[in-house]
Amino acid sequence: MGKPTGFLEYKREVPKEEDPLLRVKHYREFHEHLPEDKLQVQGARCMDCGIPFCHSGTLIAGMASGCPVNNLIPEWNDLVYRGQWREALNRLHKTNNFPEFTGRVCPAPCEGSCTAGLNGQPITIKTIERSIVDKGFEEGWIVPEPPKNRTGKKVAVVGSGPSGLAAAAQLNKAGHTVTVYERADRVGGLLMYGIPNMKLEKTVIQRRVDLLTAEGVTFVTNTEIGKDIPADQLKREFDAVVLCGGATAGRDLRIEGREFKGIHLAMEFLKANTKSLLDSNHEDGSYISAKGKDVVVIGGGDTGTDCVGTSIRHGCNSVIQLEIMPKAPDVRAANNPWPEWPKVYKMDYGQEEAAAKYGADPRRYLVNTKHFIGDDNGHVKELLTVEIEWKRDDSGRMIPVEVPGSEKIIPAQLVLLAMGFTGPENTVLEQLGVERDERSNAKAAYDKFATSVPGVFAAGDMRRGQSLVVWAINEGRAAAREVDRYLMGASNLP
Ligand SMILES: Cc1cc2nc3c(=O)[nH]c(=O)nc-3n(C[C@H](O)[C@H](O)[C@H](O)COP(=O)(O)OP(=O)(O)OC[C@H]3O[C@@H](n4cnc5c(N)ncnc54)[C@H](O)[C@@H]3O)c2cc1C
Ligand code: SF4
Repeated sequence: MGKPTGFLEYKREVPKEEDPLLRVKHYREFHEHLPEDKLQVQGARCMDCGIPFCHSGTLIAGMASGCPVNNLIPEWNDLVYRGQWREALNRLHKTNNFPEFTGRVCPAPCEGSCTAGLNGQPITIKTIERSIVDKGFEEGWIVPEPPKNRTGKKVAVVGSGPSGLAAAAQLNKAGHTVTVYERADRVGGLLMYGIPNMKLEKTVIQRRVDLLTAEGVTFVTNTEIGKDIPADQLKREFDAVVLCGGATAGRDLRIEGREFKGIHLAMEFLKANTKSLLDSNHEDGSYISAKGKDVVVIGGGDTGTDCVGTSIRHGCNSVIQLEIMPKAPDVRAANNPWPEWPKVYKMDYGQEEAAAKYGADPRRYLVNTKHFIGDDNGHVKELLTVEIEWKRDDSGRMIPVEVPGSEKIIPAQLVLLAMGFTGPENTVLEQLGVERDERSNAKAAYDKFATSVPGVFAAGDMRRGQSLVVWAINEGRAAAREVDRYLMGASNLP
């Protein structure tokens, strides 16, 4: 522990963000870095707890508490305090292949379980993580490290999201020859085509993909397994297959008027936006534009927030985000104690931008959409909404009940459905005959990752359902260990 009294002496400080009204004019990241001396002070706040809850990633009440990749947080906080950045980077890479992704997009369950946050402000763990890895790249400390020996075993990874990338990185490290198949034109999964550029610049992903390529991983893009290459061909040609195809089947809203033009799943909107931005800086016009439109985003979660931030950057006329659940409390409720993930009200970047531009948080809580109303050209023009209350039915289940007389009509020329995801797509799983769980995900136990088909493993959202980047990295790493054990009889992978 660097400074025993640090947590008493210093206050939490996070880096500044660019003014919302300025950052909505571009798609670049908008978080600044804290200077090194300030980061050292932040590192000094860490108490190096005997039981570091921040490091012990686990699920409590169904939500992550602590770091899912078990980052050695107190150790690198101490090293940063002492100015030993290179050692801090080495410690960070021991548990996390891609801290430059998590340091940008992770919701930081570590901070929710930090002991300093029990009755004060948690350590700025995520900021320190990002600063360590960004400095590592700046200093040229992160270079390709190909394995010294090859095992002669071949592994196919289907899908290049964070779980596929982590599995590939670890299997390659163990000396296996890894090919990653990706149906999109760019590598990265939802890191590339889900999370918008302003949260994670795509050059950050490509930099890591280039490193993996230099270490010997082969990436094959524009190739859908199950369509361009039959899934059983992979089984024949490779010694093992790891399915990391994500859970991207979007939840639709099958209500009256769904057929009107101008109503899209969030992912159609977000993917086209990023692709057009990367291909041509939007000059090809191949995206769904929110410019000049009244936008309604249905779904109050993170995907919805990304739709809000993107719509504002397009220059929408107005934006509203509808949420069926109640507003979270400002402080932890009694039934949500530390070290659980804190379910409290927060303004994310999209809502901050909407508030700066249009004067208020765009979220409307406890609202359900009854139907869409179209114009004479078959284009959506309005939504009919109703307020709801959550009540228990006869069986004790909570159900939404409409508040009589609370119907409203909201203008909308663009509606984005961001209500979550129903599970993985079927083709590969069906072609391989992989058993599914009750939520339609690939069935494979968490610590084994083996599916019902010998030699076929599953990891990430395809196994656990739509989750977080940090869980995907955790699963990709752990699945690689199990694949290595399957191929070699034992594994030294962590
Ligand atoms: C809009 C949005 C924003 C998000 N923001 C955050 C965030 O800020 N922080 C966070 O932690 N999490 C966030 N998430 C969740 C996070 O992105 C996912 O949990 C994570 O990416 C899952 O990783 P994965 O590798 O399992 O799958 P994915 O990232 O979904 O990657 C799966 C890949 O497999 C490919 N694929 C599928 N089938 C085939 C096939 N048959 N052949 C070849 N390729 C195939 C797909 O094209 C895709 O590229 C967000 C999700 C969305 C949708
Ligand atoms: S990966 Fe996420 S949970 Fe783990 S230390 Fe980084 S921000 Fe915290």
